Amino acid sequence: MSTKRFYIYTWGCQMNEHKSEGMAGVLVRAGYLPADDPAHADVVLFNTCMVREKPVHKIISEAGVIAQLKEKNPNLLLGVGGCVAQALKEKLFRQSPAIDFVFGSSNISQIPELIEQARARRALGKPTWILAVDKIPDKIEDLPFLRASRFQAKVTITEGCSNFCSFCIVPYTTGLLRSRLPGDIISEVSELAAQGYKEVQLLGQNVDSYGKDLKDPTINFANLLRALTEIPIPRIRFTSSHPQDITDDVIAVLGEENNICEHVHMAVQSGSNRVLAEMRRGYTKERFLELVSKLRERGVNVTTDIIVGFPTETKEDFQETVDLVKQARFGGAFIFKYSPRPGTIAYYKYRDAVPDEEKQRRLEILLTLQKQITDEENRKRVGQTVEVLVEGPARTPGLVMGKTRDHRTVVFEGASDLIGELVHVKITHGSVAGLAGQLVRPGVLV
Ligand code: SF4
Repeated sequence: MSTKRFYIYTWGCQMNEHKSEGMAGVLVRAGYLPADDPAHADVVLFNTCMVREKPVHKIISEAGVIAQLKEKNPNLLLGVGGCVAQALKEKLFRQSPAIDFVFGSSNISQIPELIEQARARRALGKPTWILAVDKIPDKIEDLPFLRASRFQAKVTITEGCSNFCSFCIVPYTTGLLRSRLPGDIISEVSELAAQGYKEVQLLGQNVDSYGKDLKDPTINFANLLRALTEIPIPRIRFTSSHPQDITDDVIAVLGEENNICEHVHMAVQSGSNRVLAEMRRGYTKERFLELVSKLRERGVNVTTDIIVGFPTETKEDFQETVDLVKQARFGGAFIFKYSPRPGTIAYYKYRDAVPDEEKQRRLEILLTLQKQITDEENRKRVGQTVEVLVEGPARTPGLVMGKTRDHRTVVFEGASDLIGELVHVKITHGSVAGLAGQLVRPGVLV
């Protein structure tokens, strides 16, 4: 009997990418192999996300593509998991007849059984429509991750979030904050170090809230980072930080010479204190700018997320966001137009009052400003020699790309055997697109 193959589509953040590594690991453990294309797969999984716009629309349109593949391969099965599955459950079957099974955010280990059940029902000529969406449990599901990279690994430290920002769907689809025990995280990172991994990325919706759900007051993010500095792995980074929860202890660890990389992704969302309060963010712009300045003093690159067009955002509020961006001088920013998410506080409390053209105008103003800042900041790095972890080929043949410790992209001439290596690069050019440089040969760096 030939080996069955699977293909996974992933939408959303790094946490979802890591969940997909868990789905892949579960299927490999059950005897499946990855397919290079959905057309060569026996099972296709959608790992969905509700944070971005029109998530259901995207899934249903992609399910239409799978429906066409099913015409050529009637044995092909389609399973949908992730946030959209957790929220919509059996309603998804009505949205697309191509979907055979739906699994929840904590039902990943059951995927092989769901496939077998769907096959059995299909063999009997019945509709498949298998549903496994449990209430989110207190414990994070233990999964045998099939990691996509041999030198960079993602490690979950928390799942869920108890903050309930008014615009955000995450607490409803992924549940309340659940932290892994420090011993489990330390063992996993130690094992990755022993396997030769160069970089570990700690993942959580809000890493700074790590441990708040556990009974032991000594368990917190700063203490976890300190423990991880003892592990012989060159780089540890984390995402995402929250201005309400980041502590001086965490900032202190970032300022010491250790393996914790000097980058913090910390969403500000707005520069208006009134809007921040309506977003239920738990900090003011003054507090945020104070944090940025403390981090900057320690050489930390701060990147952020911003929402424009929150329902009550006036032109004056928006101007405050522009002013904050000018002061904070972020190393990079993801800027989004507000879009209402059913189920969130803002969805029920406010009318989506800012017209789309105005949201677009605000978006473009911020994008232009941020590009200018990124360009200026990158130019300042010309002449520096930086450590780069080479991640892969660049778009231009003959060039490779990688990241500095503070998460700036660097492109330089180099062979593919450098991929996965830590090298030193002298920066010769900086622009809005990133940094470019020359490899410093061993022995040249003094
Ligand atoms: S901190 Fe706020 S925005 Fe971030 S995941 Fe939690 S609720 Fe959502």
